[in-house]
Amino acid sequence: MIYLDNAATTQTDPGVVEAMMPFLREHYANPSASYAAARHVRKALHTAREQVAARLGAQADEIVFTSCGTESINTALASVRALWPEKTDLIIASTEHAATLEAASRWKAQGGRVLTVAVTADGVVDLDSLRELLRSGCVALVSIMWANNETGVIAPMREIVELSHAAGALVHTDAVQAVGKLPIDLRDIPADFLSLSGHKLHAPKGIGALYVSQRVRFAPLLVGGGQEGGRRSGTENVAGIVALGKAVELSAEIMSSTLRDQFEHQILSAWPSAIIHSQNAPRVPSISSICFPGLDAAGMLILLDQQNLACSAGSACHTGALHSSHVLEAMGFDAAHAASTLRFSFSRFTTVDEMARAVQIVSACATKLSNLTANL
Ligand code: PLP
Repeated sequence: MIYLDNAATTQTDPGVVEAMMPFLREHYANPSASYAAARHVRKALHTAREQVAARLGAQADEIVFTSCGTESINTALASVRALWPEKTDLIIASTEHAATLEAASRWKAQGGRVLTVAVTADGVVDLDSLRELLRSGCVALVSIMWANNETGVIAPMREIVELSHAAGALVHTDAVQAVGKLPIDLRDIPADFLSLSGHKLHAPKGIGALYVSQRVRFAPLLVGGGQEGGRRSGTENVAGIVALGKAVELSAEIMSSTLRDQFEHQILSAWPSAIIHSQNAPRVPSISSICFPGLDAAGMLILLDQQNLACSAGSACHTGALHSSHVLEAMGFDAAHAASTLRFSFSRFTTVDEMARAVQIVSACATKLSNLTANL
C-alpha cells in the first residue's frame, strides 16, 4: 500500500513500539502505588512529560496526558467556560476541526456566545476579522488551530496570541496537525493551552496531551483519583504516555516541504487542470489538498483504493461518511469543488519512490474516471 493519509493517522514508529513494549509486559505496576516497581513506572511518566515539554518549550508540570486530541480540546474549552462564566464569548475559526466545533456548540448550549473568525480565500485566519471580534470585550477564550487538517494551512499564531492577550482573552490552539511538523516554542508564542495527539505523530491511538500554562487557572474535565496532579483523573495509560514521549522525541527533525512540493509539481504536470489549495499560503509540509475539477472524489477514492493507494477526500470524513467540507466552503469554494477534492498527506516514512508511483496512479485513475464520466 502507498499510504498518503497521514493526517488521518500515522504508522507507529518501530522505535516507539520498542519503547512502550516493556510497559505492556513487565512494567505493569500502577504508577500511584508505593513499591519500587511503581516508582520505576512513575519515573517513566516523568521522562515522557519532560520529552513532550521539551518539544514545546514548556515545563514538565505544564503537560497533562489525556486520551486524544479531542479530549484535550474539550478539556481546555470546558475549563475556561467553568472558571470565567462572566466572560461569555468564545472565538473560533470557521475552519476548526469537529472537536472544536462541537465543544463550541456545548459552550453555546451552556449559555455562552460563539463568534467565528473568517478566513481568507487561502484559508488563512483573517486578523482584521479577529481584531473586530475581540472588541466585544467579553471574550474568555480564542481557540484557533495551529495547522488545518484539510489544507495544511498554518495560522498566524504569534499575531493571534498577541491580539488576544492584549484584549484580555486566553488562547487555546489545536496543534494536532502542527506538532512534529513545525518548530513550536511556547516561550516565543505564549499560547495558554495547546492540544496534541499521539497517533498523528507516530505514537499509537489513545494518547494525547494538553499543555496548560502555569499562568492560568485550570478546572479538570475528569475528576476522581486525582492523577496528573489532579488535572486528569483516571489510571494513566502508561505505555501510551511512554510512546508519546518517545514519538515526540523522534519527531525532533522537522519535515521538509521538498517532497510535498515535488508531488504537487508532478501532479500539475500530469493533470494541468488540478488546483492546489492554499499553494501560496504558509502550510505544513505534510498535507496537500488538490481539486481535480469535474472528477468525483468518492469515485477517485474507489479507483485509488483498487490500486492500493490510501488517501482521503477533501471533504471531511468522519465515521466513514462523506460530508461537504466546511473548510473549503469557508474559503469560498462551492460544494461541487469540494466534492472533487482529494487530500494527500505525508510523513517522514513517505519515500520519493512512493510519491512518484502515487502521481502515476492518480493520473491513471483520473484519466479512467474522466473517460467513464464522459461516456455516461
Ligand atoms: N484536531 C485536528 C486538527 C485533527 O486533525 C484531529 C484528528 O483528526 C483532531 C483534532 C482529533 O484528534 P484525536 O483523533 O486524537 O481525537
